[in-house]
This record gives sequence, structure tokens and C-alpha cells, in this order.
Amino acid sequence: MPPARSAYLHIPFCHRRCFYCDFAVVPLGDQASAAPGAPGAASIAGYLDLLQREIAVSPAGPPLSTVYLGGGTPSLLSPAQVKGLLQALKQRFGLAPAAEISLELDPASFDQQRLAGYLGAGVNRVSLGGQSFDDQVLASLGRRHRRGDLQQAISWLQQAHGNGRLASWSLDLIQAVPAAPGQPDAPGLEHWRDQLQQAIASTAPHLSVYELTLEPGTVFGKRAERGELTLADEDLAADLLELTSTELGAAGYGHYEISNYALPGHASRHNRVYWSGADWWGFGLGATSCQGGQRLARPRTRAAYGAWLDSQRQQPVAAEPGLLATGMPLDERLLVGLRRREGVVMAALLADAGVEPGQVPGHLEQLRRLLAAERKQGLLLIEGPRWRLSAPAGLALSNAVLRKLLDWWEHVGPSPTGSGPPGPGAAG
Ligand code: SF4
Repeated sequence: MPPARSAYLHIPFCHRRCFYCDFAVVPLGDQASAAPGAPGAASIAGYLDLLQREIAVSPAGPPLSTVYLGGGTPSLLSPAQVKGLLQALKQRFGLAPAAEISLELDPASFDQQRLAGYLGAGVNRVSLGGQSFDDQVLASLGRRHRRGDLQQAISWLQQAHGNGRLASWSLDLIQAVPAAPGQPDAPGLEHWRDQLQQAIASTAPHLSVYELTLEPGTVFGKRAERGELTLADEDLAADLLELTSTELGAAGYGHYEISNYALPGHASRHNRVYWSGADWWGFGLGATSCQGGQRLARPRTRAAYGAWLDSQRQQPVAAEPGLLATGMPLDERLLVGLRRREGVVMAALLADAGVEPGQVPGHLEQLRRLLAAERKQGLLLIEGPRWRLSAPAGLALSNAVLRKLLDWWEHVGPSPTGSGPPGPGAAG
């Protein structure tokens, strides 16, 4: 496995927690900022010290070709703080020429001057957490910003992209949102078509369209448990997915990964690292890294992350058993791989999972027969050695196809003893 050339830095601070979000987030209040003396400023500064420390004790590696500052709301950081983090990475690893350096920004958490500061610090790609152009939807999601803030942020990004200071930018949208309070139904197809048209009109070269998922413990999760949340039904959700693919395809966006669409030349290099099976560094509370195919997840609370870092000051991070090693098992590789445009090389994946070379052709034939109906319906595409789900129909039914594959694997896969599949981490 080639050494990691990508790094993710988690910035956990947000003004408030959105109703659907279960990320590792520290809400600081609507007035929070990194300005000296402002609410939350001390928390931010203290956390950045920890993050700098984790980077400094990391094993060294080759220069990074992608860096992603995500969150949370990284635009709560000042440009000087972003520059300090990039400096720390540069000192530890170096930054490759033309490295892609992405920063997540939330509307209403930055202005044009601050954007210029981020670009001056070395950021060359922005991911804007717009989520919706509809004020009622934004309010119902628990978001702090409104449509006017989003339009303003878009105009600044358009200018920065137009004058060449910003290489690329992306806009996030949430699909299949629930009914707003007082409304009988979830927003339908025409509402979504209008959202997509506004996203296309924004000229964002990259769009990330996430389907709303209900997470336990979130405001939405609790409302759903009480029967107080009206969601898009399955048919509508599938129609929305199809509409997204159709509209964005017609506008020239390639669907290069399940949630991601890009105009030619604007696919995120960092996103592709996650789906490619390559290693990456992760820094910060709740961040996951992948080294030698082994996933390492850091503690999700600030106190636990600080204690974990204190406990191993002299230790290389990757060797610390306090991290959670979860590996990348076959089901996860199928889950992410089949949804990519380039799919998976199924024979290689089976061999990696412990199938004897002589058995691979027979296994492939079994799978072809098992999934004949899905292939006939055009849900599963087999193109030479590569297998993938079609967009949008196959992606909409990806869980069903995956379930069938995993049931099959449970029966035919190598046993955990003898020549069984490799242990956690070895399958990456
Ligand atoms: S802004 Fe993003 S990270 Fe923060 S709470 Fe909302 S969804 Fe979660």
C-alpha cells in the first residue's frame, strides 16, 4: 500500500447543532468567533494547540497532495489559524506542488475579506455548506444561515473562481428533506427541481448532494421516534435521486461518486482517496485515519481526545492502541466500491478477502448468476473486470444488491480460521 499523501483535519466547532447532525461537533453558540475575546475563541485556540500537537508527533510521510479541513464549521477559524495548521502539515510532511487544499465554509460564517485571507493562507478549493435555497427548509433543518446568506457566499466564491484565485468550489445540498413544521408533506419533485436549477445556476463546478439520513439521538431522530417527522416516502426518495442524476447530467455534471457530481476537471481529488482504498492521515477529535489499510478512529469528545493525546505524548500516533482499529472489511469495500463510477475489480476484491486464486473464477460465475436479475434490470453493470451499480437506478437500490452479495459471502466466504479472510486492516 503506498504511503498516505492526503490529510483530513477535523475542526469540530459549530455555532449550533443542526437537527440532523450526529458528527463530532462542539456547538459554541450563534455569536461564536475566533476573534480574541469573542465567545468560543478560547475553546478554538485551545483545540488548535491540541491539533498542532497531534500533527507534530505524527510519523513523517511524503509530501501531501490533498488536504481537507472539514468539520464542524472550519470557517469559524481565522485565516491565520488556517495558515498555522497548513504550516504544521508542511513542516511535518511537506505539501506537493499543486496540492489540493480544501476548506469547508458555512454561509453566514465568513465574509469576502475572510475568504481572501483563507486563499492567501493556501486554500485553493472550498466546499460550501449551502444545503438548501429555501428559507423554510433551512429553518426546518435547524440551520443558522438563510438563502440570502447563501447567495452572498456564492457570489464571493464565483468572483474568486472567476479571477483564478480559487481553483474550484463545491456546493452541498440535502435531498429528501422532511416536511417543515405545519406542512402535511415533504417537499416534492417540483420543489427539488427548482433547488437543482438554482444549484446549477450558481455555476458551482462541483455539487455534493446528500440524502438526509436519520441518526439516533439527533433532533430529527427523536422526532421520528415520536412519530412527529414526515419524511419523503421511498418512491419519492427514488424519484428525487433520479431527478438529481438527470438534471445534473443534462447540465454537464459527471456523477463520479454516489453523492458527488462534478464538471469536467473538478472532481475532488481528496474525495477520491477515500473511495480508492488508499491510505490517508486524519487529525483531530473524531477524525479517522487509514494506515496500511487499517482505520484508526480518534475519540469523539474534546476531553477524551485531549486525554488521549496527553497519554501518548512521546508515542507515534499510529502505534497507539487507544485508537479504535476497525479495518476495512469486504462489506465496506463493496459498499463504497460498487457506488463509484469506476466500480470494483471483483476478482481482485475476492482475492484480497482470502478466496484462493483457483476459486475466484467459480465465485465470479456464481455471483453473475445470483445477480442475473439485477443485471437484466440494468441495476448492476459488469464492464470487463469492473462491477458497479448504475446511476441512478442501481444506486437507489444499492442496499438490496449489497445485502444479496453479503448473504452470499457469508455462505461461501473463507472461514475465519485456516485460509480465511485477513484480519482487520489487512484487507485494505
Ligand atoms: S454545520 Fe454541519 S457539522 Fe455543524 S452541526 Fe450543522 S451539519 Fe453538523
